[in-house]
Amino acid sequence: MSIENEQRAESSETIASIPTLSPSEIPHRNMAISYYCDTDDEMSNVPNPSGSIEGDPSELDEFRCIVCRTLPYTTLYQCQYEHIICAGCYQMRVLDKMLGAQLGTCPQCNVRIYRHEAERNLHGERRLAEVLVACEACGFSLQRAFLRMHCQTDCPLRLVACKYRRIGCKWKGVLGAAAAEHEQECEYRSKRGVQLLEELQQLQAERDSKQCLLGKIMKLLQLPHITVRLLQLLPHTEGFPRNAFKICSFFAAFSQRWSIQLKWQTPDGVEEPADQQSCTCSLLFQLRLESPSTCRGALGLTYTLVSGTYSEVRFQPNLCEKCEFTRDNVCGPLTLIYKSSWPNCAKLLNERGFYARLLMARI
Ligand SMILES: [Zn+2]
Ligand SMILES: [Zn+2]
Ligand SMILES: [Zn+2]
Ligand SMILES: [Zn+2]
Repeated sequence: MSIENEQRAESSETIASIPTLSPSEIPHRNMAISYYCDTDDEMSNVPNPSGSIEGDPSELDEFRCIVCRTLPYTTLYQCQYEHIICAGCYQMRVLDKMLGAQLGTCPQCNVRIYRHEAERNLHGERRLAEVLVACEACGFSLQRAFLRMHCQTDCPLRLVACKYRRIGCKWKGVLGAAAAEHEQECEYRSKRGVQLLEELQQLQAERDSKQCLLGKIMKLLQLPHITVRLLQLLPHTEGFPRNAFKICSFFAAFSQRWSIQLKWQTPDGVEEPADQQSCTCSLLFQLRLESPSTCRGALGLTYTLVSGTYSEVRFQPNLCEKCEFTRDNVCGPLTLIYKSSWPNCAKLLNERGFYARLLMARI
């Protein structure tokens, strides 16, 4: 059975099973979409913590990447005039250009950068790794290179999941008294075997659906007319809008112009929640055809958006199995790529940004 036939048979079912979106929010025709939401993974899939830098933070400004303006956690590259570029921006702005047979140049001064002679700024890398920072949760002071590990495994005020999560409990909270109290009264402690069986079957069904989705993504990778675009979301220091589309990137593919639009979706469209830590938000993307007037007939695409090499978070596996773009149908389906608490989404979109790869194939 071809991919197209399979997906025709499944399309009505997959559209009906998309959570959080009402049918009115999915107005597009000729599309099938599926994704899997892995809640187990949510706790560690977060952007790098910033910590509070001890001393004068502006002393480190000379090590900010000239493109994304972040203080990198990665290798630092530089041009001959010491303009610093983080590894992610170096891949996007210098290496990717070279692959397209263009010259690699410094994004700031345009001086040529040669692939095999890329200079690193070792002094900056060491400075950023060794500077002392205080954990924002517990105030513990440590070297910046160890901050992420501290926040995930050592911090006495880190977020933890219930120890019964493997059998279905979704509780999350701060380690310590609250966690101990929850575990004492967790309903999963006293569930009977037959009740647990239902929960485990549900978890198994979720895993099976992920496996099935990954299989379909593998099929996409084997299609003959596949193309890849590297995309970047720069940090929105002025504040990424909530519950509205924002264009993240323009690019050309299959003789057309396209854009990727992102949406930070909050529960019930709330603008600023009272309890930010327990407010789980979604990040969705949509592929948009920007040159409909030059699109003759229908352009059928299948595509997936995956996180780039230097992204600090991993995207949920996602796949648009088929979308027919025409003059009248310029938007692909809204697809979930990331789910986390309000502060993590804010940090990702406003402070860190991300890199992504869009894999598209004509069908
Ligand atoms: Zn950068
Ligand atoms: Zn330069
Ligand atoms: Zn801490
Ligand atoms: Zn529990």
